[in-house]
Amino acid sequence: MLEQIYLHQRQYSLQLRKEPYETRREHLLTLQKLVENHQTEICRALELDFQKPQFETLMTEIYSVVHEIKFALKHLRTWMKPQRVSTPLMMLGTKSEIAYEPRGVCLLISPWNYPFYLTMAPLVSAVAAGNCVIIKPSEYSRHTSSLMGQLIEKYFSPEHIHFVQGGPETTQALLQFPFDHIFYTGSSRVGRLIMEAAAKHLTPVTLELGGKSPTIVDKSADLEVAAEKLAWAKCLNAGQTCVAPDYLFVHQDIQAKFSNLLQEKIKAALHLNSGELQSSPDYARMISRHHTDRLIGLVKEAVDAGAQIIFGGDSDSEKHFIGPTLITKIPPQANLMKEEIFGPILPIIPYKELSEVIHFINDRPKPLVLYMYSNSKLDIDQVLRETSSGGAVINDSIIHLANTHLPFGGVGESGMGRSHGIHGFRTFSNDKSILRQGALGRFMRITYPPYTPFKMKFIKKLIRWRI
Ligand code: NAD
Repeated sequence: MLEQIYLHQRQYSLQLRKEPYETRREHLLTLQKLVENHQTEICRALELDFQKPQFETLMTEIYSVVHEIKFALKHLRTWMKPQRVSTPLMMLGTKSEIAYEPRGVCLLISPWNYPFYLTMAPLVSAVAAGNCVIIKPSEYSRHTSSLMGQLIEKYFSPEHIHFVQGGPETTQALLQFPFDHIFYTGSSRVGRLIMEAAAKHLTPVTLELGGKSPTIVDKSADLEVAAEKLAWAKCLNAGQTCVAPDYLFVHQDIQAKFSNLLQEKIKAALHLNSGELQSSPDYARMISRHHTDRLIGLVKEAVDAGAQIIFGGDSDSEKHFIGPTLITKIPPQANLMKEEIFGPILPIIPYKELSEVIHFINDRPKPLVLYMYSNSKLDIDQVLRETSSGGAVINDSIIHLANTHLPFGGVGESGMGRSHGIHGFRTFSNDKSILRQGALGRFMRITYPPYTPFKMKFIKKLIRWRI
């Protein structure tokens, strides 16, 4: 069955690569219709999966996909145009260009945390670049995965886009085929398995992974604003966001003030004073009991080793609920400071000198993103210059991925390759170098054997003149 789908797509990809701009534009418009016509069902599916608040679904899953499509529609003609490049003197008479051809048949593997956005946004790039795509969504977000499968089946032919539902065994089965590109979003652990399987066919991969993204708040920051933004970023999707602030470094002189402000902002945003967070429609649940228990275990282990919960700490394993939690005095050996948290728990670490923070970050795998709240240009420049991360945001959190002009992706443990806008289009394209020889081409004979003394003199002159 899987083999048949793959072979049909392989066959169809040969047809698809001949299609002009207008056909790809049509495909993008179909995707747009798919999203816009089914907003209510999409919101409902995400609510069933993990009680994702409707506003968050509209903003982070639907609006962001619609925006990606609109951006692709606006720029597609330019993206598809071959790019002329200049010609070195030695090659006078030739013309060169880069043509962006479809890769062919691509495999797209997506996670559960933004199940609609993280499936559809890369799909927009893959379709814009003229590919056939097999999609394997997450088995955890089963309502959204099943809805996406039905919608794709309704709007697209299976030779073009096909959904395969299932768990890790299904992904493993798909990985047996020699895809032209694999775009994987998920954990670093599984990312390694994907890359290993891709290596067998020398298939290029884009790995959009996670990790521990730090936030720094220094003394010069606008603390009110920083607290409000940080509270929002950590509670969005109940912390189940790849670019969520994982842990916080705050200058020791403002630690008490800032943690009070953070608590205030969390309470205000989620109406915590009314004590009804568990039934709040503005706060998502964990995706499964397993994920809830993992977080409860991380906190318990840290507390048993001496950490102190300064806010929150509520949980209900049965209801997949974890309340926003601030925790400090965490021993360095605690897993809370080793694993990606991926939940609404924020470790707070006081610091004295910025150099300590830089050393701490550089001592660990490179993060997907680094956040800094500061009004000191000198300190901001120092952190940007002396650390490496997939992205960086100054005086805000998360929002860099909403700028479609910026490439999105990780570095080292947090991933490889880029998505969004033209960067996504290029990821799903092969940059083909095309050189056309002209009438002056016959002069190239000077470089062919026999290598006479005159030709030797000629090549030595070229080296000397650096032509
Ligand atoms: P996951 O790696 O467990 O699962 C992702 C996909 O891989 C799913 O489709 C799943 O079925 C498949 N999979 C799981 N185990 C597999 C195996 N053994 N072999 C083959 N396939 C397997 O990730 P998740 O829990 O769904 O998502 C959370 C992780 O994703 C976090 O680490 C988060 O930071 C990361 N993430 C990254 C981004 C990004 O853009 N960089 C976005 C969202 C999530």
